[in-house]
Amino acid sequence: MEDLQLTAATRVVGVIGHPVRHSLSPVIHNAGFRSTGVDYVYVAFDVAPGAARAALDSLRVLELAGLSVTMPHKTDVALAVDELVESARNLNSVNTVEVRPGGHLLGHSTDGDGLIASLRHRDLDVRDHHVAVIGAGGAARSVIDALARHGAASVAIVNRTLSSARSAIALAHGRGSAHSLNDEVDVRDVVSACEIIVNATSVGMDTDSSGGQPVRDLPFDTDLLRPEHAVVDLVYHPLVTPLLSAAADRGCRVFDGLGMLIHQAALQQEIWTSHRPDIAEMTEAALRALR
Ligand code: NAP
Repeated sequence: MEDLQLTAATRVVGVIGHPVRHSLSPVIHNAGFRSTGVDYVYVAFDVAPGAARAALDSLRVLELAGLSVTMPHKTDVALAVDELVESARNLNSVNTVEVRPGGHLLGHSTDGDGLIASLRHRDLDVRDHHVAVIGAGGAARSVIDALARHGAASVAIVNRTLSSARSAIALAHGRGSAHSLNDEVDVRDVVSACEIIVNATSVGMDTDSSGGQPVRDLPFDTDLLRPEHAVVDLVYHPLVTPLLSAAADRGCRVFDGLGMLIHQAALQQEIWTSHRPDIAEMTEAALRALR
C-alpha cells in the first residue's frame, strides 16, 4: 500500500459532523483513494450544530471535491443542497454531497444502498424476501427505503416506540407494517414470518449514542431464531455483537455492521471520483483502526 502523496493538485473531500473526531471515515476513505490511485485526500471537519449551510458555502469557496455528512447535519444539508436524488428525497436526509459543474450541489443518501451492496457482496439479494427491521431511527429509515427500492417482498418495522415505526411505514412503499418491540407475541410472529432480520437499533453497542453507558444487550429474544434466518447487525462497535454471537450459535448466517459502513463509503467514492475503490483494502484499514 503506497502513502498518499499530497500536492497542490490534490483534491480534498471531508466529513462534516459533531462530534466527528472519533470517525472511522478518514481511515476508510483514504484507504479507498490509495486503492484506486486517485489524487484525493479525506479529512474530518467538526462543524457545530446549525452551521451546515455555512459549511456548504465553505465547500464552494474552498472548491472541495465533495462531502460526507453525519449527525447532526443530515437534514439541514438536505434542505440546503440544490437537488436531491430519490433516496435522499424519500428520507429528507443527505450523507453525501456531490459537486456538479457550476457548483451545483446534489445530495445523496448511500447508507441503505450500502447495506444492500454489502449483502450482495456476500451473495444475499433482498429481492422477494420478507425482512424485519428492528428500529425506526435514522439508520433503520435508510435501510427500509433501500429494501423497498430493491424489491423486498415485505418490510416489518419493529420498534420500541411504536409511533416511530408507524411514521417509517411510508418509506416501505406499500410493503411495510409497524410492530411494537414490547409486544412479545407480535415479535414472535414477525420473526417467524421473515427470512432476513436487520438490527438497526443501538442495542448491542459498546456505548450508547451519547457515548455514555454500554448498551450490551439483545434487541429481541434470540430463541426465536432458526438456522434459515440471515441476521444483520448495523452495530459495528463491537463487530461481534451479542445478537450476532447468539445468531451464529443458532446456525444463522450473520452479517456485521462494517459491511454497510464500507460499502456506503465505496458508493460515495464512486460519486466523487467515478472510480470503484477496493473493498478489501478499505475493510482491512477499518479493522486495523478498530483493533
Ligand atoms: P437513532 O436514530 O438514534 O435510532 C436509535 C434506534 O435504536 C431507535 O429505533 C431506538 O428506538 C432504538 N433503541 C435505542 N436504545 C434502545 C433500547 N435500549 N431498546 C430498544 N431500542 C432501542 O440511531 P441510528 O443513527 O439509527 O443508529 C442506530 C444504530 O445503527 C447505531 O448503533 C449506529 O452505530 C448504527 N449505524 C450503523 C451504520 C453502519 O454503516 N453500519 C450506519 C448508521 C448507523 P426508539 O425509537 O424507541 O428510541
